[in-house]
Amino acid sequence: MKTIIYNIGTLAGILPADVKRLEGSQMNDVKCIENAYLVIEDGIIAEYGSWDGCKNDPCRILTDTPSPCGQGGSTVFTTAPTAVNAEFIDAQGGFVMPAFCDSHTHIVYAGCRDGEFRDKIAGLSYEEIAARGGGILNSADLLHATSEDELYEQSMVRVREIMAMGTGAVEIKSGYGLTVEDELKMLRVIRRIKETAPITVRANFLGAHAVGRAYKGRQSEYVDLVCNEMLPRVAAEGLADFVDVFCDAGFFTVEDTEKILSKAAEYGITPKIHANELEVSGGVQVGVKYNALSVDHLEMTTDAEIEALRGSVTMPTMLPGCSFFLGIPFGRAKDYIEAGLPVALASDYNPGSSPSGNMRFVMALGCIRMRLTPEQSFNACTINTAYAMGVSDQLGSITVGKKANLIITKPLPSLAFIPYSHQTPIIEKVILNGTDIA
Ligand SMILES: [Zn+2]
Repeated sequence: MKTIIYNIGTLAGILPADVKRLEGSQMNDVKCIENAYLVIEDGIIAEYGSWDGCKNDPCRILTDTPSPCGQGGSTVFTTAPTAVNAEFIDAQGGFVMPAFCDSHTHIVYAGCRDGEFRDKIAGLSYEEIAARGGGILNSADLLHATSEDELYEQSMVRVREIMAMGTGAVEIKSGYGLTVEDELKMLRVIRRIKETAPITVRANFLGAHAVGRAYKGRQSEYVDLVCNEMLPRVAAEGLADFVDVFCDAGFFTVEDTEKILSKAAEYGITPKIHANELEVSGGVQVGVKYNALSVDHLEMTTDAEIEALRGSVTMPTMLPGCSFFLGIPFGRAKDYIEAGLPVALASDYNPGSSPSGNMRFVMALGCIRMRLTPEQSFNACTINTAYAMGVSDQLGSITVGKKANLIITKPLPSLAFIPYSHQTPIIEKVILNGTDIA
């Protein structure tokens, strides 16, 4: 099956196949072609180029179809051709860009925490909310009381929501189970989403999100449970692409983290870390030491973290939606880029600290609150998040051979308009695996 997208005003986010992430000044540019076309074959980007003058007549591939480009080489395709072996999509002069990759979410959860929202507005601290039964343990109680089928249905509502907002790949973490059975329940739901939804999904086992209620005051025993009972079961069922630890003040220590990452290494599971949200935790350094694919949050970092990340495989990932919602500092993205490092931006979609998976808003916050240029923020939300979830060989850019996960927008004056006019509905179509999801 071939699909030809034509009348593309700007084809944005073109990269060579060997680029897996962009670092430092490489993040300053987004390669574009004006007045372009793009050919999809069996869900994969097969070809793209300039439509100008139809020099690269894409219709040549339609051997049994009259070529609209052969009719005098007009630069504007005014009427869609009839084709027997291809589908044509008129982009009507809009942008075509890679779908967003969201490398950090917790979108499998039960219920919501809108009650805590009132508490937060009233000025209660995170600790006071937790003492009232709120926080991660509240989500764990709700999840425990929810069946696997119901959890899947509730989560799919959010999956459909983020797909419609242009997300084509998502990493989903466990961590609201906090018992062996409930963590497995969450990971099975993530697997079911992976199998049934058109979005690309990566699963992350975050048993060390908080100490389970039954282990209150016995943190090291809970860490042993994660290492000796949860991880072997997760590995045996092949449920996780990654393992994660909340390495931060009041949660898990660097020593706990090392213990879990060492155990995960025995099963060949790649680590990622929640680090430095609440304090300078050592989470970045332990992540780099264990070749974590990413260290995420980074609201509280010093120059030592920037130094630790130099020359590493680890993607610094910041979550501006969480900073926005909680009113905590934003990560120092600009300093990282000026130091020559890459930066990724993800949504952190979760019921407690970032109840939104709108990656366009994340891109806008990257510009508005972190002072990234629109190009830097675009790259941080596409190719660099693809890297941070281990899919940049398949997603995150316009590249021949990658999955055709694309956003088609209304005509826009510039790339900057995407984050600038961040609430204007500009998305016309979302294409996942070459198919319009509408
Ligand atoms: Zn998180």
